[in-house]
Amino acid sequence: MSVAVFTARHVTKTYRSGDVEVQALRGADMELFEGEMAVLLGPSGSGKSTLLNIMGGIDQATSGTVMFRDEDLTACSERELTRYRRDHVGFVFQFYNLIPSLTAWENVALVTEISQNPMKPEEALEMVGLKERIGHFPAQLSGGQQQRVAIARAIAKRPEVLLCDEPTGALDSKTGILVLEALARINEELKTSMAIITHNAAI
Ligand code: ADP
Repeated sequence: MSVAVFTARHVTKTYRSGDVEVQALRGADMELFEGEMAVLLGPSGSGKSTLLNIMGGIDQATSGTVMFRDEDLTACSERELTRYRRDHVGFVFQFYNLIPSLTAWENVALVTEISQNPMKPEEALEMVGLKERIGHFPAQLSGGQQQRVAIARAIAKRPEVLLCDEPTGALDSKTGILVLEALARINEELKTSMAIITHNAAI
């Protein structure tokens, strides 16, 4: 039987700035199961990032519940969410967010140094096909390679879940496929549960 890693029920999120209210989510339900690689597809502005950020403990819902296994994220304090993110979640964003003055290896090592049961940075970089590039700085890598470093950084702490926000959004389709293949390999080999959000139906 499939075990749910995430269960979201009737999740709403309203952003307020001054007099303006934006209802980013109006009662969203979802499940993500163990080992699943799920794609959440929808047009820009439909609330995908908002939902992903709530699942990742970056943002909080206005109402509804978001369970991570037996833990209700909507009842967590900031401190508890910080621990939840550190111990369980890997993030991949559209724009890689690598530190330019650090090599690929050092970007990944930043995370492994503060994790409990990490793989070696070189091991994570090998999983995404970048073993030969560990000494390169971000500026010496293509967009697709930088994104694969970002993926290596996200998986090096062996997170239970990997949340990816438009991971191929800044890449051409050929390079995007390499990035998706790296994600599929991680899903298969590490059994990491994944949610990938995109507006691109080709994904
Ligand atoms: P998607 O990821 O599907 O493109 P988002 O979750 O980014 O959608 O945004 C959903 C809606 O919420 C949009 O109308 C967006 O403008 C609005 N929104 C997102 N973040 C904020 C914010 N921090 N403040 C105000 N409005 C926001």
